[in-house]
Amino acid sequence: MAGVAQRKRPWQVAALVALTALVGCWFWQRSSSPPAAVPAPSATAGERPFVVDVHVHLGPDGVERLGRLMQRWHFDHAINLSGGTPGRGLSEQLAAARSSAGRVTVFTTLSYHDARYPDYGARMTAALRRAHAMGARGLKIAKVLGLGLPGPDGRLLAVDDPGLDPVFEAAGELDMPVAIHSGDPRAFWLPIDGKNERKDELEAHPGWSQFGQDAPSFDQLLSQLERRVARHPKTRFISVHFGNCAEDPDRVAGWLRKYDNLYIDTAARVPEIGRHAPEKMRAFFIEFQDRVLYGSDLGVSAEPEPLFLGSEGKEPAGAKEEQRFFTATRRYFETADRDFDHPTPIQGNWRISGVDLPDAVKRKIYGENARRVIKLDLPR
Ligand SMILES: [Zn+2]
Repeated sequence: MAGVAQRKRPWQVAALVALTALVGCWFWQRSSSPPAAVPAPSATAGERPFVVDVHVHLGPDGVERLGRLMQRWHFDHAINLSGGTPGRGLSEQLAAARSSAGRVTVFTTLSYHDARYPDYGARMTAALRRAHAMGARGLKIAKVLGLGLPGPDGRLLAVDDPGLDPVFEAAGELDMPVAIHSGDPRAFWLPIDGKNERKDELEAHPGWSQFGQDAPSFDQLLSQLERRVARHPKTRFISVHFGNCAEDPDRVAGWLRKYDNLYIDTAARVPEIGRHAPEKMRAFFIEFQDRVLYGSDLGVSAEPEPLFLGSEGKEPAGAKEEQRFFTATRRYFETADRDFDHPTPIQGNWRISGVDLPDAVKRKIYGENARRVIKLDLPR
């Protein structure tokens, strides 16, 4: 998703910051006695795997609500990929994270607004260094790089644009993993007709369609991404949305075998990976048990803003959609159930089957890998 914080006007963000800090502190201080409306967790982190969601879009006003979701759906830490940049939302997001009692880690974003300057690489690198000094722990790059970000000459910057090399080198030097979204589901390049299995989603978001656009192809973007990963062996990449290629796990497996600095997250792709043969996917997760990080693509702002649950339809998500999103995701990883409804109905009209991960693998994918790759210093 484009990012919760970016949907708000600057004045809204500014007005919410002070409030967020106050409310956040209040909430976390009394989180040992949850509000009556929130069901008590059936298990604590001591009894179940510690769960880090590495792909969350949190508005600075959404900390309290995120806390309630963590309690209700049993996850323990969130990586906020909508951290913004210095002077553009980052300090507000870091303040919000501080009010979470250590349950939120913030990634900065690429300073896209610098792309129009001839020295964009140097400017973006400087912004990254400032963000790191302020407390950002990683860098998030949205799909706009490669698909919609013009450089100083007005032409699209490619994912592997050489002018951006210093940014990726600096990320490695600063020990900041790069969570990168390149491309989109393959169906977004196809006509929006009865044969397109993402028709509902594309009709709700016509702007997500690349069909007929003067855009690089799905495969060109993945080649750009691969060259980028190959060029910076000292930089850790988290290729989001199942390596940006959930349709083809064999291709993702090939990259993971080839590039030691590459990791993937599972955000918003359980519907897609859940339709592959479960035995095949189980073998994938076992082979790459140290390389896969659990992520959801959950977007949270203060109510009454609807939750973003991996995608969104024309109607705002409610309690039913929330329950389905979290329970179907866990069911996928934790059971051998066959042919059940997937977490995000708008992402396609099909059913999925679970992979029933062994406990040790589940612990790594749910949390241990995130601790190591993002260098999180968290309680056990
Ligand atoms: Zn996202």
